[in-house]
Amino acid sequence: MGQSPGFINWARTHRSNPEGYFQPTSEGEVVELVKQAGSSAKKVRLVGAGHSWSSIVCTDAWLVNLDRLNAVINIDREAKQVTVQAGMRLSELNELLSLHKLALQNLGSISEQSVAGVISTATHGSSVHYGILATQLLSFTLVDGRGEVHKVDPSQVSLWSARVSLGCLGIVTEVTLQCKDAFDLKEHAYPVPLIEIDKNMLELASANEYFKIWWFPHVDVAQVYTYNETAEGRVNHNGFVRWLDDNFLAKYVFTLILGIGKIWPTLIPFFNRFIRILKFNEEVRIDRSDKVLNLPMPPIHNEMEWSIDAKDAPLAFKQLRSMIAARNLKINFILEIRFVKGDDCMLSPCHSRDSAFIGGYHAGEKGWDEYVEGFEEIMRQLDGRPHWGKHFTFNENEIRSLYPDLEVFNEIRSKLDPDQLFVNEFIQKTILD
Ligand SMILES: Cc1cc2nc3c(=O)[nH]c(=O)nc-3n(C[C@H](O)[C@H](O)[C@H](O)COP(=O)(O)OP(=O)(O)OC[C@H]3O[C@@H](n4cnc5c(N)ncnc54)[C@H](O)[C@@H]3O)c2cc1C
Repeated sequence: MGQSPGFINWARTHRSNPEGYFQPTSEGEVVELVKQAGSSAKKVRLVGAGHSWSSIVCTDAWLVNLDRLNAVINIDREAKQVTVQAGMRLSELNELLSLHKLALQNLGSISEQSVAGVISTATHGSSVHYGILATQLLSFTLVDGRGEVHKVDPSQVSLWSARVSLGCLGIVTEVTLQCKDAFDLKEHAYPVPLIEIDKNMLELASANEYFKIWWFPHVDVAQVYTYNETAEGRVNHNGFVRWLDDNFLAKYVFTLILGIGKIWPTLIPFFNRFIRILKFNEEVRIDRSDKVLNLPMPPIHNEMEWSIDAKDAPLAFKQLRSMIAARNLKINFILEIRFVKGDDCMLSPCHSRDSAFIGGYHAGEKGWDEYVEGFEEIMRQLDGRPHWGKHFTFNENEIRSLYPDLEVFNEIRSKLDPDQLFVNEFIQKTILD
């Protein structure tokens, strides 16, 4: 057992003081750890990179991290498959795959997370043609609450459907992922008036391989991003400007603007319009897929994100804009709309439906609770399901009604973890109570 460093998530929205902190270096050590926890009646939680906004990781008991279980096990270039230990960060995996001329089909906005972390919370990218990252999984190894090791693949139908597990079935130690040949993406970004976006967003989502919308509240246009595979050759017209943007403007200038807006919120609409003129213009670039899909790390801020039926996205967007205006909220961060293909994972927010994820982001506490209240009211009316790794307020009955297979999931959980070793307050409140 290592000295517990105390846990604080990336967004600094949750902290806890685990009694013990462990970084096993082999599957055998993971098994021993679980058995020891069981015999001393200690609870266990897993932490990857700590990049969730929710309290999903928090525990006062034992916290386990697999940063030292991050090796490559096998790369099958022919089958385009990779097996790695589950503590590997996506950023390391992207580089490894690139060396072998392979890539993941889909990624979210960043790759700082651990492979096990993104699978456990149903982390997603932005394409109605591709599912959450867990749908790229071919098999995984799980050490359950009794210290037993399971090799899981799609032939074990119910256990397979439970692979978005919120870390409460056991410790995932190894994963095999389906990849594809390395590819370049062409990003085309351009501003579009809101009325046009309302009309065209569904068409744009299906016509492009990847697609997202960024809207700065208080601005009358949104920025559309389309991404399509190309063999045209890399283009980064403004290489230096982009570097400056990523490393200086986004990091320092935006952080300064956010800081001023926190003190004088009435200035926020003016700042948002200023940023839109400065940054949200037409731009084209072509680069390696992960470099195009990933963004530089943003300044620290709050995030909530809900998944709704994809077809309801235009309605939701209109209602959210009206809500922000009606409540006179001053929101200093973008609202993001992304699309994701439906899947068969029991606890995936995209379960059984092609989905739109709508994210409301804001830096600072002023106005945040009211934004959350108004946002969630709209999402709940549209049968929205919250992202497990982002902020949401909940009550257990709501969660139960959103996931028709929750009971089946809990039956599996009780068999794999009969002593509720992996249950923390978050799990208790969301899926158990
Ligand atoms: C700047 C930023 C951008 C983001 N962008 C996106 C995005 O584009 N799309 C999106 O969907 N999400 C996004 N997220 C959210 C993020 O992808 C998820 O919260 C993800 O789960 C974080 O991964 P992590 O490794 O930090 O896991 P943690 O937050 O540390 O843990 C998440 C869950 O995984 C479990 N877990 C971790 N390791 C294991 C293991 N070995 N075995 C079993 N369970 C385990 C934990 O117990 C917990 O339940 C973003 C987050 C940030 C901070």
